[in-house]
Amino acid sequence: MRLIDTHSHIYSDEFSADRDEVVLRAEAAGVEYIFMPNVDSTSIAAMLETRNKWPELCHVMMGVHPTSVNADYQDELAVFDKSIDDSFYVAVGEIGIDLYWDKTYLNQQKIVFEHQIDVAIQKSLPIVIHCRESFAEVIASLRKFDKSKLRGIFHSFSGVKDQAREIFLSGDFYLGIGGICTYKNAKFTERLSEIPIDRIVLETDAPYLTPVPFRGKRNEPAYLVYVATKLASVYGIKEDELAEQTSKNAENIFIL
Ligand SMILES: [Zn+2]
Repeated sequence: MRLIDTHSHIYSDEFSADRDEVVLRAEAAGVEYIFMPNVDSTSIAAMLETRNKWPELCHVMMGVHPTSVNADYQDELAVFDKSIDDSFYVAVGEIGIDLYWDKTYLNQQKIVFEHQIDVAIQKSLPIVIHCRESFAEVIASLRKFDKSKLRGIFHSFSGVKDQAREIFLSGDFYLGIGGICTYKNAKFTERLSEIPIDRIVLETDAPYLTPVPFRGKRNEPAYLVYVATKLASVYGIKEDELAEQTSKNAENIFIL
């Protein structure tokens, strides 16, 4: 079984003590690639260090996360603009709008999000979207662009079919599914099979959103197996088939 973790922050401090073991466990679990989204200018060095240590396994994205957007957003965008010229970035991410933590900088979040979409289109890169309590705002931003040029992942999707339809109408998008689908109270899981499997990719969002049976502990790419097992049962297909289909989907997005 081969798996692809389309969203993982294993470069973060939470993994400083045992990153080597985390990588070994990921490989033992069948994880073929780990795609790492950037957060902001302060996370680039650690991300690139991790990528340089495991260049076959770990691939990097460049982006400014919406929760890193404030009054000084132009400084962050300047770093983004300079960094994105490096040819090893496989996507623009993670980018988007987050109104869960703070609504103060909504306008700035929109400016930063749309600027990065613009750059992604110019460079023909996929985008990885972070959308929290901001579905209407994210869709409104996407609709400003030519949908035939937009492609990528709606990361950590836990919505309903209607939202999925809206997303698919906005561009060539896939839905990133992670540990949340294993939670008992996650109502969206039972209706997930209404969404075609050829639109689903797997992710951990490590160190966050740890699947059952490790919920509450630190997440890591090896735990992708638990997401795959749950989704295989939701879709009524074999785990191998689920793993292969979602891996192919991920490869479609991140042309390596
Ligand atoms: Zn993330």
